[in-house]
Formats: sequence, C-alpha cells, structure tokens
Amino acid sequence: MKVIDHINRATGTLVSFEILPPLKGKGIQSLYQHLDPLMEFKPSFINVTYHRSEHVFKKKADGTFEKVVVRKRPGTESICASIMNKYNVDTVPHLICGGFSVNETEDALINLNYLGIDNVLVLRGDAAKNETSFEPEPGGHQYAIDLLKQVVNLNSGLYLEEDLKNTSQTKFCIGVAGYPEKHFEAPNMDSDLQHLKAKVDAGADYVVTQMFFDNKKYFEFVNACRKNGIDVPIIPGLKPIYTKKQLTTLPKTFHIDLPTDLSNAIIACKTDADVEKVGTEWLLAQSKELKKAGVPVLHYYTLGRPNVIANVVRDL
Ligand code: FAD
Repeated sequence: MKVIDHINRATGTLVSFEILPPLKGKGIQSLYQHLDPLMEFKPSFINVTYHRSEHVFKKKADGTFEKVVVRKRPGTESICASIMNKYNVDTVPHLICGGFSVNETEDALINLNYLGIDNVLVLRGDAAKNETSFEPEPGGHQYAIDLLKQVVNLNSGLYLEEDLKNTSQTKFCIGVAGYPEKHFEAPNMDSDLQHLKAKVDAGADYVVTQMFFDNKKYFEFVNACRKNGIDVPIIPGLKPIYTKKQLTTLPKTFHIDLPTDLSNAIIACKTDADVEKVGTEWLLAQSKELKKAGVPVLHYYTLGRPNVIANVVRDL
C-alpha cells in the first residue's frame, strides 16, 4: 500500500522506521534482529536507505596501494522485498541519482514494481567520497526532481524507449526530502523551498524531513512550506542521541544544530549510557509534542538503536 494512502486513511499519528541495509558480510538475520523488537508497534511502513559505491585504497603486499570500488551496504531493493515478505509491512526503498544512469534507474524501478513495492523516496544523494561536490553519473540525473520526473513518467507508462507500445504503468507513491534547517548547499531557505515546491509540483506525494532536535524548526519549516504553496504531508524525521561523539558527528554530517539545553545535558553526562538516557528522554518529549500537534507520521531513524526507539514509542 502507498504511504499516502496510509496517511489519508489514518485517524491519528502513524509510526514508521528507517533502517540501513546490513554491512556486506552480515546476513539478513542481523537486520531481522534489529527489526524484531520494533514490529510490536505496527509501523505503517519501513524505509530502507541506499548506499552508493565508494572508492577505497587497499594496501597491497608490496606496500603500494590499489584503488578499488566497494559497496559496503548493498541490497536495498531485495531487503525491501524480504521485509514485506517476513513482516507483511509496506516498505519504501530510497533511490538516488548518484551512481545511476537513467537506464539503470529505469531497470531498478521495473524491478521494484515486479517485487510489488508501491513506494520510493527519491533523492539526489551526496557527493561520492572522492568528489568535492555531487557529480551525476554520465547519462544520469543531476537533481532529485529529474529522478522524480522519471518515476512520474513511468507511472504514466512512459519508458525511456518511447516507441514501446501498450506499456504497463507503475503506481509508485513518491516521497522527497525536505530540510527544516536548509540543505547545506542551498544559498538560502527561500531557494531551498522553491526547489522543494518544484519537486511537489512535479508529482511528489509527501515530504520527509531531515532529522531535527528542536521541534520549533520543524513547525517553522511546515509554516514556510504552507506559505509557499507546498500542501502535501510533511513527515518529521527523528533520530535518537546515544553517544557523546554524536555532539560533533551529527552537525558535521547532517548540517543541523543541537539545541543548547540538549548539548549541555549531553556534555554533563559521564558515560554513553547516561547520554542514551538523556537522548531517549529528549526524543520522547519531541515525539509527544509532535504527536499532540497532529503530525501525520513519526518517522524514526532507528540506525543501530532499536531499543531506544522501542522505549520511546512504547511510552508515547
Ligand atoms: P535535491 O532535491 O536535488 O537538492 C539538492 C540541492 O540542490 C539543494 O540544495 C536544493 O536546494 C538544490 N536544488 C534542487 N533542485 C535544483 C535545481 N533545479 N537547480 C539548482 N539547485 C537545485 N542519501 C543517500 O545517499 N542515501 C539515502 O538513502 C538517503 N536518504 C535520505 C533520507 C532523508 C529523509 C533525507 C533528508 C536525506 C537522505 N539522503 C540520502 C541524503 C540526500 O541524498 C542528501 O541530503 C543530498 O545532498 C540531497 O538530496 P535531495 O534529494 O534533497 O536533493
């Protein structure tokens, strides 16, 4: 079922989770162990992130280095199918522009359609580790909106080979990313909002946000979206804090701020177990306020900490 149908039929705030594919070498069981404790909360859907290949330098026996391409977390599409099969829950594979030609994207979409997957979250992706800024694959898409338009075309039965006749239409529900604290490359919030509006006007069914730790930023973002004519549901993305290290890694990686009260409370913690307690309480308070405000879905980035998410959702 489509994410937008879950939202439209809901009588209250829904819950969804986001997971990473297991690291190459770990079996699918590691993923199930992660998800098992979360399934009692009956998530409406589960997102599975996409991780592109990276160039790494591998040391050879003679001491020199060899440049090799590795993909640390393959399998997004098949993991979605496995989760649907095992738990009977809808899944949302993330699909990115980076590393894909348009033909490869079309093949991926056809495979997802054959697997019975009704949803995609379309994203640009970040620059590859060896690039200073995002470079599209030759014959690939530059922005998420270009990928979105390809999905919209396929939903109308328009394939890249335009002379195909009597084609079958896909029926993907399409989500896109939004940034309450602005995408880090956007010159200002207005410009970022105009690009988000363009994605919605081109056919996005809903927006899911980058993580934030200050609900005020989400509420202001939703207001700004509404003022700019972005009328689709805006799903808040939420992440737990459980280590002191995240005080610096989260702002560096995701270009977000941590509120002073939260950072002070974390700095005062003696151990990571203490940080996890502070982070859990913070996430619970955020979730309660968002739920009270009537957000459509609470979308949790579970990434390695299903127990924290389980404690929060149980107490909601
Ligand atoms: P876009 O919408 O293309 O925007 C990128 C930048 O370009 C923005 O600054 C925007 O303002 C600007 N822009 C957009 N259109 C135009 C235009 N026509 N002309 C000029 N400027 C334009 N990354 C992964 O690799 N895998 C994942 O699974 C993944 N999941 C994510 C899930 C969520 C909820 C979020 C918020 C992010 C996720 N990301 C993921 C990260 C994402 O790929 C990066 O944030 C990326 O840098 C931007 O992606 P986007 O889809 O927002 O890009």
